[in-house]
Amino acid sequence: MNLLKNKAYINGEWVHAKTQSIFEVKNPRNGETLGTVPHMDASDAELAVEAASEAFKTWQDVTGEERARLLRKWAELVKENAEALAQILADETGKLDNEAKLEVVGLVTSIEFNAEEATRIQGEIPSSPLPGKKLLIERQPLGVVALISPWNFPLMLSLKKVATALAAGCTCVVKPPEDAPLSTLSAVQLAQDAGIPKGVINVVTCDRSNASQIGKIFCESKLVAGISFTGSTAIGKILYQQCGPHIKRISLELGGNFPFLVSNSANIDEAAQLGIQSKFFNCGQVCVSPNRFLVQEEVYDEFIDKFSEAIADIIPGEGLAPLINSTQFKRVCGIVEDAISKGANVIVGGQPAEDIGKLFYQPTLITEVTHEIQIYTEEVFGPVASVIKFKTEKEGVAMANDTEKGLGSYFFSQDVSQIFRVSRLLQNGVVWVNEGIFLPNKAPFGGVKESGIGREGSHHGIEDFTYIKFICIGSL
Ligand code: ADP
Repeated sequence: MNLLKNKAYINGEWVHAKTQSIFEVKNPRNGETLGTVPHMDASDAELAVEAASEAFKTWQDVTGEERARLLRKWAELVKENAEALAQILADETGKLDNEAKLEVVGLVTSIEFNAEEATRIQGEIPSSPLPGKKLLIERQPLGVVALISPWNFPLMLSLKKVATALAAGCTCVVKPPEDAPLSTLSAVQLAQDAGIPKGVINVVTCDRSNASQIGKIFCESKLVAGISFTGSTAIGKILYQQCGPHIKRISLELGGNFPFLVSNSANIDEAAQLGIQSKFFNCGQVCVSPNRFLVQEEVYDEFIDKFSEAIADIIPGEGLAPLINSTQFKRVCGIVEDAISKGANVIVGGQPAEDIGKLFYQPTLITEVTHEIQIYTEEVFGPVASVIKFKTEKEGVAMANDTEKGLGSYFFSQDVSQIFRVSRLLQNGVVWVNEGIFLPNKAPFGGVKESGIGREGSHHGIEDFTYIKFICIGSL
């Protein structure tokens, strides 16, 4: 089956933009055009919202068991078509083949998990403080939700939101990322094949120039009950503001500035190895990618030696994907230039890897990084690691928390009481202790501070797509 789509999906139909406008999707590895998709605008988004609203009238009465059955069928079809989906995903993002395959597996397990959870949405019946009354606390689906996702895990992030929304009993409109909308469209074809009714999932595509007008429709439409956004803090703030006047529910999963704290008692081999895996996965284009390696002074030299040796072994194109587009590529070049101009030391890399392709950058390690250097405060979203030395635990924790972002952190220590103490002090939604990136579906994921509000994954993620209703029955 050819899964590659060139249309968007509204009310169960594969459609062009009303204006017939299109845009191209390119392969970041070689710049080749992979296909075109509709360049939609606010009027198309309104149609999609209306379709989702109409569909909610019947979908809200579909039982959790039936929603679970449909989700499981969808997961089966994704599994059967995993290879084709991974290929489309690798082509549109430049991901390494194994990384693309892993993302498809992640999607399958997420849909399966949400299918299970769809049957377990529960209320409470507290005892009544007065006789003759029954108190019921129910969770009801929000209604129509708008889902906006970024390009770094386009398939997983778009469709995990969809699976969660459907599990909760919501209908949805998805706006996939302009750089990589194809895998989402393909997987939605499979949702249609699985029998998910028309209007329950809708997809509107557009290039960057129309993203803001579509975002505005989502925030302002009375038919949209909630928004779930994963992306940059800058766009998250715009959406949050736009939702404000309408008191609209919004869940935001925004950027991080992950510290990777290595204490004197850490197992340095383990820290260096997990540091490499976490930092260079998806070319560092991951919101949980370690941004600042904070290493305590006694183990600093050993860590630098082991870490830099391992970094020097990574080969762009084989063990390292390209950056997604020229904007990101220029950002990464700028961040390294800024560090060098302010006195940082480049230990490994520090240059584009142009011999491999226009968007490839060498895996890079920078030391002597201070607060004034951009990489200390800004998420690099590329294959560049910065290392900073600290003296005491107190200083390390202060540096780790010295950021507006609070998505998560890594912490390496063999000292049990220190592990509990520091985990509590870190101002983050996620703390990985002696561990690299590990996000099972059971884990609630999300940040504090400017990294966002709400959680994805676990039953908490589903609850974000519901509201609590208190029902009191009197005269009993
Ligand atoms: P990234 O840097 O990962 O592209 P962005 O926050 O810029 O992160 O984009 C994430 C998603 O938000 C993309 O799908 C993009 O098209 C969309 N987007 C960008 N601007 C807006 C906006 N003003 N309103 C709604 N969505 C937007």
